[in-house]
Amino acid sequence: MHKLRVLIVDDSSVMRKIVERSLREAGINIEQVFPAGNGEEALGVLRQGKVDLVLCDINMPVMDGLEFPL
Ligand SMILES: [Mg+2]
Repeated sequence: MHKLRVLIVDDSSVMRKIVERSLREAGINIEQVFPAGNGEEALGVLRQGKVDLVLCDINMPVMDGLEFPL
């Protein structure tokens, strides 16, 4: 099965870990997780390469999940 590169965007590191653990417990085959603390950091990750899945919080500082241009 194809392994997924997952971008997890949340200003809470605890929440990022919870999201990652939930994906793994659901049996999602993960190649790599890219953490980002806000939309701007997430854009930085996307500029460096492709991801298969983006999970994005809405309430974040700097650039929130509604401003983040997916
Ligand atoms: Mg938040």
